[in-house]
Amino acid sequence: MSEAWDAIVIGAGVAGASIAYHLSLRGLKPLLIEADHIGAGATGRSSGLVRMHYDVEEEARLAWASYAYFSGWSDRVGGSCGFTRTGFLQIVPPEHNESLRANVAMHQRIGIPSKVLSAEEVQDLVPVFSTEDFEFAAYEPGSGYADPAATTTSLVEAARGLGARLIQGCKVVGIRVSGGKVVGVTSTLGDHDAPVIVNCAGPWAGEVAKLAGVSLPLDTWTHDVMLVQRPPQVASHPAVIDDALTMYFRPETGGLTLLALEDCNRFGEAPDRPLEGVSKGFVERAVERICRRIPGMEKAAVQSTYCGRDGLSPDQHPLLGPSGPQGFFLACGFSGTGFKLGPAVGACMAELILDGRASTVDISIFSPDRFSQGRTIQSEHPYGPLWTS
Ligand SMILES: Cc1cc2nc3c(=O)[nH]c(=O)nc-3n(C[C@H](O)[C@H](O)[C@H](O)COP(=O)(O)OP(=O)(O)OC[C@H]3O[C@@H](n4cnc5c(N)ncnc54)[C@H](O)[C@@H]3O)c2cc1C
Repeated sequence: MSEAWDAIVIGAGVAGASIAYHLSLRGLKPLLIEADHIGAGATGRSSGLVRMHYDVEEEARLAWASYAYFSGWSDRVGGSCGFTRTGFLQIVPPEHNESLRANVAMHQRIGIPSKVLSAEEVQDLVPVFSTEDFEFAAYEPGSGYADPAATTTSLVEAARGLGARLIQGCKVVGIRVSGGKVVGVTSTLGDHDAPVIVNCAGPWAGEVAKLAGVSLPLDTWTHDVMLVQRPPQVASHPAVIDDALTMYFRPETGGLTLLALEDCNRFGEAPDRPLEGVSKGFVERAVERICRRIPGMEKAAVQSTYCGRDGLSPDQHPLLGPSGPQGFFLACGFSGTGFKLGPAVGACMAELILDGRASTVDISIFSPDRFSQGRTIQSEHPYGPLWTS
C-alpha cells in the first residue's frame, strides 16, 4: 500500500532539508527521503563558508537572504547551525581589481556590508599575511563559516516539528508519471504518492532526474580538503577566498585551518565512487600556497585530508526550477558553493512550488531549461570559473 504526501523531497542534504522545512512552514506535509543519512552527500563534507561575495547578483542575493538565517538561527529555525563570525576576505589578482570594485558596489547596493580594502589595509587587519602579490580585496566583517551537519539536522528537526516525515536508508529507485504529471516515487521501502517531487540528490541528481525521463547536463566535482594545525605565531585569520593564489581557507575549531584549492579538482567521477584520498600533489601544492600567504604557516603541521563531491553544472551555477513532467522540480547542480545558499534556496523553492514564482529572490535566472535553450549564466564582472582541474 502506498502513502500519500503533499510533496516528496529526494535527498536530505542542505537543499532537501531546507525545502522540506519551508514547505512545512507553508502548511504542507512533505516526505523527505534519504538514501543514506542526513548530510551523507556534499553537505556533510562541505567547508561551510558563509559569505556573500559572488559575481552574479542573484547568487549574492541568495547568500544574503540565507545570512539572515545563519546569523539568527536559534530564534528563526531552532537548534544550532554553528555559525562563527570570522570576517571574510575575497582576494583577487590585479587583473580583477575592476571586477572586484564593481561587485562590491553591487553587494552594497543590495545591502550587504562589504567594502574594498587595499593590500596595506589587509596587512593591518591580518598582520600575519604576506600581501605583496595583490592590490585589493573585498572585506565582509560579518561573514564566516557554519557547521553543515548541524545546519541540516536542525532544518530537518524543524520540518519534522511542523509535520514533515524523514525516512533515512531509503533510496528512490523510480518516479511514477501519469498523464504528464508526477504521481509518486518507488523506493527501496515501498511506494509513496505525491503531486510534487523535488530532486535534491546532489551529485546523484542526474541519475534521479533520469527516473522521471529528464536528462540533465550535470557532471560531478570532487574536491580535496586539508586541515592543518596552526603554529602559535599564527593565532588566527579570517575566512578567505584567495583568487591570487587559487585557494580558500578558514579557521576551524581547535586551532586548525581548513584549506582547499580552486584548481586540482576532479571532474566526471561516478557519484557512487568511494571518496578515498586526495589527488597526488594536492598536499604539497596546498602547503606551498598557504605558506606564501601566511609565511608563519611554515611551522604548521598537516593534521588530516579528505575529499567530497558535489553536482556540477556546465556554467557552475545551480539548477532551480521545474523540469520535465508537471510537478517535478530540481534544486541541484550547486557546483561547490551551495551550502551557504541553502536556507534561501528552500524559501525560494517553496514559493515557486506554491505560488508559481519565488519572491524571496527572483531565481528565474537559474531555470534548468537554460542549457537546452543555449543560455548560460554570465557575470557582468566575472572572475572566471571558480573551479578548474
Ligand atoms: C568538499 C566540499 C567543500 C564545500 N565547501 C563549501 C563551502 O565552503 N561553502 C558552500 O557554500 N558550499 C560548499 N560546498 C558545496 C555544498 O556543500 C553543496 O553545494 C551542498 O551541500 C549541496 O547540497 P545538496 O543538498 O544539493 O546535496 P547533497 O548534500 O549531496 O545531498 C544529496 C542527498 O541526496 C541523497 N540521495 C542521492 N540519491 C538518492 C536517491 N535515489 N534516493 C534518496 N536519496 C538520494 C544523498 O544520499 C545525499 O544525502 C562544498 C562541497 C564540498 C564537496
